[in-house]
Amino acid sequence: MGEKLVIVGGVAGGATAAARARRLSEDAEITLVERGPYVSFANCGLPYYISGAIAKRSKLLLQTPEGFDARYGVKVLVDTEAVEIDRQGKRVRVRGPEGESWLPYDRLVLAQGGNPVMPPLPGLDSPNVFKLWTVPDVDRIKAWLDTAKPASALIAGGGFIGLEMAEAFTERGIPTTVVELLPRIMSTMDPEFGAMVAGKLGEKGVRVLTGLGLKAIHGTEGKAELSDGSLVDAGVVLLSIGVRPELSLAKAAGLALGATGGLEVDEELRTSDPSIWAAGDMVEIVNKVSGRKVRVPLAGPANRQGRIAASNALGMHLEYHGALGTSVFKAFDAVAASTGLSEKAAREAGFDVGAAMIVKDNHAGYYPGGQEMTLKLVYDRKDGRVLGAQAFGGEGTEKRIDVVATALQGRLSLDDLAELDLAYAPPFSSANDPVNLAAFIGQNDLSGYAPLETAAGLKAAMAAAAGGPGEAPFILDVRNRGEFEEGHLKGAHNVPVDELRFGLDEVPRDRRIHVHCRSGFRSHLALRILKGKGYKDVVNVTGGWLAILAEGGFDIER
Ligand SMILES: Cc1cc2nc3c(=O)[nH]c(=O)nc-3n(C[C@H](O)[C@H](O)[C@H](O)COP(=O)(O)OP(=O)(O)OC[C@H]3O[C@@H](n4cnc5c(N)ncnc54)[C@H](O)[C@@H]3O)c2cc1C
Repeated sequence: MGEKLVIVGGVAGGATAAARARRLSEDAEITLVERGPYVSFANCGLPYYISGAIAKRSKLLLQTPEGFDARYGVKVLVDTEAVEIDRQGKRVRVRGPEGESWLPYDRLVLAQGGNPVMPPLPGLDSPNVFKLWTVPDVDRIKAWLDTAKPASALIAGGGFIGLEMAEAFTERGIPTTVVELLPRIMSTMDPEFGAMVAGKLGEKGVRVLTGLGLKAIHGTEGKAELSDGSLVDAGVVLLSIGVRPELSLAKAAGLALGATGGLEVDEELRTSDPSIWAAGDMVEIVNKVSGRKVRVPLAGPANRQGRIAASNALGMHLEYHGALGTSVFKAFDAVAASTGLSEKAAREAGFDVGAAMIVKDNHAGYYPGGQEMTLKLVYDRKDGRVLGAQAFGGEGTEKRIDVVATALQGRLSLDDLAELDLAYAPPFSSANDPVNLAAFIGQNDLSGYAPLETAAGLKAAMAAAAGGPGEAPFILDVRNRGEFEEGHLKGAHNVPVDELRFGLDEVPRDRRIHVHCRSGFRSHLALRILKGKGYKDVVNVTGGWLAILAEGGFDIER
């Protein structure tokens, strides 16, 4: 018999580890321990089963214990929990349908994932309150929807699982409210993207309440109480407010934890015990852009880590260098995606941050069916290194994020992105892809040819002036008069770009000019006109009026 490999946790990281281990060794004695009734299920697919996009429950079950045994010769113990690791004796105590027993191991892989946070709220035990993490969870939700037929849904938490479920409930015709404690939903992205996602949800009838928490659930009345004392309809309640790594087993065994609260692993994903490796949501890894320790609870990293952990447990020395946190989610007919650092995260990590935002159709404007996309590129002003990107739009949005993710892996700069030779034909893109364009704009910013400021930067400049003795910033709005009249920043001066050459006497030369249009293109032309006419200090508000609206907090006159 070969080495005894025990794997705890049988879904993304664990199931990958088991299959990989068998491909590497026909001799290894592999046992997979899973406390739930299913292995290798599609947790990422659960919201789409509720919405009906995935019609058959069986599609969620990617592999069965019998299938694992037949194909991989892996012994799978379901409904079996690993309750203790005896590191000295190299054995794991498990509790399953047949009682308790010890499983000896030579090498152990932990892939236990995490658990959704369930705060101790009054009414949490009401029958209409759910979490969504496993197949039994989805069964419970579906049974409630089918039998109780709730007339309203409340989701606590505006992260991607909560928002996917907001779509799922809405697709089922249930009026849905999302309540989020932070000022914005999708807080992993910059605020303007949270606002865009909220706008899409609102357009589809989802009510989004931010800056409010869930205080209590009044299950029998089908109501929930929020932190401001208000009551909202809540025939079904989903809690989706965060995930904690599952560490009780590792902690009790004395394995070292990292600063972020995840299990500490080295570059070979080995824990502080040389016979134990770990993968997935439970571990702490490195953010590839900032170099900081982070937890990235996503399926891609969990799968790749499972593969590496199993390989190394069987004697290889593969390295895992970290993750970018690349993610995407569907908000009805829109897509929100990001990779690397947001502007906020880049600032927190100490970079000298620049940001270029473009609003552009996903393909050539003359080809029918173009869908608007907002793409924000974040870069280091010091050397032009690309640090991250976020995008919101229709078809092709995630493709641009994947291009930038690849650029981040290669530590590429704005100059590299500007040169990227990407696939183009009118139905798919423009001769200058949005990624090229965003890079051009970033290059223009860094070279001083067309300096940028973000909507947040403009807001800060306005706030600083409001508190001091100086004049308010000079804001030049170069949209046409109709656009201006529909809504503009208080105190802004309107000179449409096509009239600017003849309207220069309205624009002072001794002050900084903050110029904007709807999305940033006309204001770029205006900036170049002003520069050509000898104006020294002009900045373009990147993303224009759309970014200003999305950023929020401005004084707007209509
Ligand atoms: C609804 C939902 C949607 C998601 N959508 C996406 C998405 O679109 N994209 C994306 O990248 N990620 C998504 N994720 C996250 C992704 O599923 C996780 O990051 C990934 O599954 C983590 O893999 P893992 O192996 O670390 O943990 P898991 O896949 O959670 O597996 C851990 C397993 O370990 C078992 N376990 C724990 N402790 C023990 C023990 N002591 N004994 C035995 N078994 C134990 C658990 O029962 C669990 O089955 C989603 C998650 C959910 C819940």
